[in-house]
Amino acid sequence: MPTFARVDLAFESGEGARLRATDGEVYLDFTSGVAVNALGHAHPHLVEAIAEQARKILHVSNLFRIPEGERLAERLCAASFAEFVFFANSGAEAMECAIKTARKYHAVDGRPERVRIITYEGAFHGRTLATLAAGGQKKYLEGFGPVVEGFDQVGLGDLEATKKAIGPETAAILIEPIQGEGGVRAAAPHFLRSLRELCDQHGLLLVFDEVQTGMGRTGELFAYQRTGVTPDIMALAKALGGGFPMGACLTTAAAAKGMTAGTHGSTFGGNPLAMAAGNAVLDVMLAPGFLDRVRRNGLLLKQRLAEIKDRHPTVIAEVRGEGLLIGLRAVVPNGELVEALRAERLLAVAAGENVVRLLPPLIVGEEEIGEAIGMIDRACARLARAREAPREQGAVG
Ligand SMILES: *Cc1c(COP(=O)(O)O)cnc(C)c1O
Repeated sequence: MPTFARVDLAFESGEGARLRATDGEVYLDFTSGVAVNALGHAHPHLVEAIAEQARKILHVSNLFRIPEGERLAERLCAASFAEFVFFANSGAEAMECAIKTARKYHAVDGRPERVRIITYEGAFHGRTLATLAAGGQKKYLEGFGPVVEGFDQVGLGDLEATKKAIGPETAAILIEPIQGEGGVRAAAPHFLRSLRELCDQHGLLLVFDEVQTGMGRTGELFAYQRTGVTPDIMALAKALGGGFPMGACLTTAAAAKGMTAGTHGSTFGGNPLAMAAGNAVLDVMLAPGFLDRVRRNGLLLKQRLAEIKDRHPTVIAEVRGEGLLIGLRAVVPNGELVEALRAERLLAVAAGENVVRLLPPLIVGEEEIGEAIGMIDRACARLARAREAPREQGAVG
């Protein structure tokens, strides 16, 4: 279906932060498959783990124990607040599990009327009917029939509106610690702390959608660890399999108390191949120094981008984000900046609020960051000149 507005560009291979196009041109990949290829392309450890698992077992049903999955779940729990993991195949599915878990919690608690979930403007939670309703973006909901009931949306950072939205039917508050698709908009740590307090006060569950921010992207394994606020439920996907499709819903034991045998399921979720990929990704991310390096390189990139912003104020208005989840709020249309970067052989992704997202693989090196900075500088200079040109011509005329 023509549901994607694709760029006329295809790639045949990749290595680290670089992609080789079918026409032989080499690009620096600061999209990482939209925050997926955290270990870059063709990472030897990930490739080997997938190949080795493929030779043993690709798939068995969840009718049976899956040791690779038990191991991955234990490691994710050990590295987070969680005590349970449900494995799914995508971010939207991980979010569906999060929504169902929150509702079921209240149902088994004798409060089946508590089904409503408070969400935030600019949010993105996926493309299934329920996650679209959660995201609340009209342009994505239009024409797809009745909107799934039970989501109340308020402004990001608006504590008073959040309080007002809490009613006898409220089950949970759902938020991305940093909105990705929404334009790299961070929720303030004090706002997240207030949400935690509200949840505790009203017996609600706090759900973090870390599908984009999780797995090292912000310089911590999970973004919540930067904020000092712990959720009850957390959705992961994107970088979880380093490029192999998988998602996960992590919860405390208390939050998952309604999720007993038969209440949820998945044919492919938690299959041995995905679990091998997930374990390989964790091997790399949990190695000493890995996240330190992400934080260091994130700071370096942000500092260098701040210089570019100062040099080209007619192109870039703001640099924001954490770790290697960076947004450039553009003055020019963000699509034009993405295109100008691509002409320099740097791949970036557009986002809401006229932002261009830079999402390098987490293994990106200082030298590649330097290269990217040169490309961004040249692209900005060209866009700035193009904007001045009409005026100059006028002056000459
Ligand atoms: C990408 C994304 C999703 C949806 O993930 P899919 O794998 O495309 O279903 C959900 N939430 C957030 C925050 C995302 O960035």
